[in-house]
This record gives sequence, C-alpha cells and structure tokens, in this order.
Amino acid sequence: MSQAHTNCIFCKIAGGEIPAKKHFEDENLFAIEDIKPAAPTHLLFIPKVHIESLLEIKDQKIMSQIFSAIQKVAKEKGLEAGFRTVINTGVEGGQTVFHLHVHVMGGKRMSHSMT
Ligand code: 5GP
Ligand code: ZN
Repeated sequence: MSQAHTNCIFCKIAGGEIPAKKHFEDENLFAIEDIKPAAPTHLLFIPKVHIESLLEIKDQKIMSQIFSAIQKVAKEKGLEAGFRTVINTGVEGGQTVFHLHVHVMGGKRMSHSMT
C-alpha cells in the first residue's frame, strides 16, 4: 500500500481526515460528490492509494475496478440515459488535484463541447 501523501486532499478524504459524503466505497476506491458540481450528478471515483495521474498508473487493474464501480453506481443513480466520464491529466489536461480521479457527470444533457 502506498503512503498517503501529506497535503493531498483526496488522501485526506480517503483517510477520513476530511469528511466527504461517500456514494461508493470498497477496499480499492471510493466515490464522492464533487464540491463544485458541473452537472446535477457529479461524482469523483478515486483510488485509495495515491497515484498522481493517469500517467503514473503502474497496475492497470485499478482502472477496471473504477469502471466497474462506475457501472454499478451509474445504474443506482438512474443514469441509464447516459453520463460523461472525464479524466483530466496534468496541467495541460486541466488537472487540479494531483491524485488520480475519474469524473462522472450526468442528470442533464451534456454539451457536445469537449474543451
Ligand atoms: P480535476 O480538475 O483535477 O480534474 O478535478 C478535481 C475536482 O475536485 C474538481 O472538480 C473540484 O471541484 C473537486 N474538488 C477539489 N477539492 C475538493 C474537495 O475538497 N472535496 C470534493 N468533494 N471535491 C473537491
Ligand atoms: Zn493522494
């Protein structure tokens, strides 16, 4: 198990140091509401171990675990009509929290724009 990174907000949430409403949790990952939602449903799926970004993933199985949790939670939240998943990677990718996370946004018709 990697060490929690001091000053990483998602490590602090993972460790219970900062409270957040969890919508899913298992031994590998958890899902919380984004503090600044961009859609009626906006969840972040976050591995418990500190991985800085998609570029730093060593064991790809975390991604299938995340996508499997997304499938389950999307159905529970009534997002069968669709939703958007986003992974921002690095400064140019718009990443602001440097602990890997997958955005899931739904509950409205998302704009076609990706920029
Ligand atoms: P990024 O820009 O790195 O892809 O996404 C980071 C996301 O984390 C942003 O959408 C931001 O609103 C959200 N966020 C930042 N700090 C917190 C926090 O303390 N709690 C929660 N729930 N979300 C946060
Ligand atoms: Zn972290």
